[in-house]
Amino acid sequence: MKIIMLGAPGAGKGTQAKMIAEKYGIPHVSTGDIFRANIKNGTELGMEAKKYMDQGLLVPDELTVKILLDRVAQEDCKNGYVLDGFPRTIPQAQVLDKALAELGEKIDYAINVDVPDENIIKRMSGRRACLSCGATYHIEHIPPRQEGVCDNCGQPLVLRDDDKPETVQNRLKVYHDQTQPLIEFYTAKGVLRTVDGTADMKDVFEAIVSILN
Ligand code: ADP
Ligand code: ADP
Ligand code: ZN
Repeated sequence: MKIIMLGAPGAGKGTQAKMIAEKYGIPHVSTGDIFRANIKNGTELGMEAKKYMDQGLLVPDELTVKILLDRVAQEDCKNGYVLDGFPRTIPQAQVLDKALAELGEKIDYAINVDVPDENIIKRMSGRRACLSCGATYHIEHIPPRQEGVCDNCGQPLVLRDDDKPETVQNRLKVYHDQTQPLIEFYTAKGVLRTVDGTADMKDVFEAIVSILN
């Protein structure tokens, strides 16, 4: 099963993608996580990506598409995957489509996690991330067992550089301009399903599972 998560920054794509990955035994592929791992390790890709990420802008398609196609060509992706944060532009979606078509494959579902802009800023300021294992928490809604410490790996949790309110505003604008058109793109392909992302995490997941089953 090949699934795409769509939605504004902070809609809960990553939270849901991780639960989907676990339940269905497929990898969770997040381009944001791949970029952050590269930044942490000081690679050339990481340094290039950081310039854009810190401003709330998208990393150019040429860079992004290549790392995504390399990732989904790996052995563990052969039975499917859940893409979180890719595609984010129409050209990215077209390249993915073409690469899949060449293999006789296609995207099965694009899950649109719908959360209005008003809720997003609040959510993002409460988000805490583990840069070691990619886990995310929310200081009010989804707190870690011990404040400031990752449940999975014990590493410290941080407020991401790009989760500050000024940058979140930019990211929302970029979302509406460049990513939201994908809703129409996948509707036209007959694979778009929308869930109410303002519900509790568990209820959102239930809605997604009933779509996938
Ligand atoms: P969020 O979880 O808030 O949606 P991500 O972790 O997916 O954020 O992405 C963080 C940043 O990484 C984005 O703001 C963008 O700069 C960059 N990025 C991630 N995925 C892509 C992509 N598919 N295309 C371009 N830039 C991307
Ligand atoms: P995205 O990957 O779309 O950027 P995340 O999954 O990282 O979003 O979620 C953004 C923030 O909102 C995180 O702090 C997360 O813990 C929290 N969150 C996720 N789902 C919900 C929910 N259903 N209700 C309240 N907070 C949530
Ligand atoms: Zn961790």
